[in-house]
Amino acid sequence: MQFRLNQEDSEIAAIARQAAADHLAPRALVTDSGVFPRESIAALGAAGLLGIKIDREFGGLGGSTLAYVAAIAELAGACASTTVTVAVTNMVADMLVRFGTEHQKRRHLVNLTSGRYLAGSFALSESGAGSDAGSLTTRADRHGDHWMLNGSKLWITSGDVAGVILVMAKTDPTKGTRGITAFLVEPTMPGFAVGRHEEKLGLRGSSTVSLSFQDVMLPDTARLGALGQGFEVAMTALDGGRCGIGAQALGMGYAALRETSSILAARAQVDKAQGTDQLAQFRLADMALRLDAAWLLVQKAAWLRDQGRKMTKEAAMAKVAATEAANFACQLAMQLAGAQAFDDSSVIARNWRDVRVSRIYEGTSEIQRLVIARSLAMAV
Ligand SMILES: Cc1cc2nc3c(=O)[nH]c(=O)nc-3n(C[C@H](O)[C@H](O)[C@H](O)COP(=O)(O)OP(=O)(O)OC[C@H]3O[C@@H](n4cnc5c(N)ncnc54)[C@H](O)[C@@H]3O)c2cc1C
Repeated sequence: MQFRLNQEDSEIAAIARQAAADHLAPRALVTDSGVFPRESIAALGAAGLLGIKIDREFGGLGGSTLAYVAAIAELAGACASTTVTVAVTNMVADMLVRFGTEHQKRRHLVNLTSGRYLAGSFALSESGAGSDAGSLTTRADRHGDHWMLNGSKLWITSGDVAGVILVMAKTDPTKGTRGITAFLVEPTMPGFAVGRHEEKLGLRGSSTVSLSFQDVMLPDTARLGALGQGFEVAMTALDGGRCGIGAQALGMGYAALRETSSILAARAQVDKAQGTDQLAQFRLADMALRLDAAWLLVQKAAWLRDQGRKMTKEAAMAKVAATEAANFACQLAMQLAGAQAFDDSSVIARNWRDVRVSRIYEGTSEIQRLVIARSLAMAV
């Protein structure tokens, strides 16, 4: 067992570290004010970070899932809003590689990895179909050799800026989750419309919108995967996505830990009693302990994915452990640093706001626990 990344993966993590320092950190405050990070996305595309696992032939870095989570944690330590945009784009690119035809790959992959598209989107959630995604009601009905898409989606990351949107729709409502099919929707298609922009507590620089589809005509070549395979596409995406969200949360948790340590160290210079007291030291130790333990679970899930092994339970464990550890760390950071962290523009305040949603999106903590419990029951 090796507790370090191989040469190639460390190089990818180093590319992400450099991009985070050069492009994300300097713009983090502006991005946090609600400005979509276009310039950062362009720079990340040039660095290959919009397709971390995608072959170099298609403009990516050809990395492993281990490299992916390391890179996402690096980026999130600088700007979580930009990182969620990047993570979803990577996820859509990954699904194109896994389920796409040659034609679909040629049409979309380089546009995604280069940043020409700005983003890729993943549209599963609907009003009334969040945790229970299988109950979605968006319909795709066959009309000759086309599909007609009708319905709406809620809370879709980058839905207004994406060049391609992976939409899950019911093609046979009598078949439950086996009646769901995935489609690649392009924003220029007539009948596609962007609705409300969400005003969010955190991740303010990432765009989150509702989408509607009214008689959107899709050629059969827009179908990703087989008829009825859409739920499998979505769950495969989420297994990988949950490792990414775990890594994103930990990037924020570690950033909060670094910031708190340096605030306490500076205070200790002034007042020998503060910052070095045992209570503060124990709290910093608890933050580091939980973050490091969760990081091992994220890496284990990523490693299993790289081996092509089933990792649904491990991805759920990684996500719940990482997001809860990171929320714990950001919460403690706020308390230890005191009033200066309560300044809305402080790194701690930003991460405290941004990290909260990690326990909600891509499956809530409760849903992850259900997934874990179900896989335990199956093992008995
Ligand atoms: C910023 C942001 C970005 C997002 N981006 C995307 C995106 O790009 N694409 C996309 O498709 N979706 C996206 N979402 C939606 C997100 O995935 C859902 O919010 C999430 O799945 C939870 O669904 P819900 O909000 O409808 O909550 P609900 O499902 O209504 O859950 C509410 C509460 O009930 C609990 N609960 C629900 N069912 C159970 C159960 N069976 N057992 C125990 N507890 C349960 C939940 O854990 C939660 O605490 C995004 C959301 C946010 C906030």
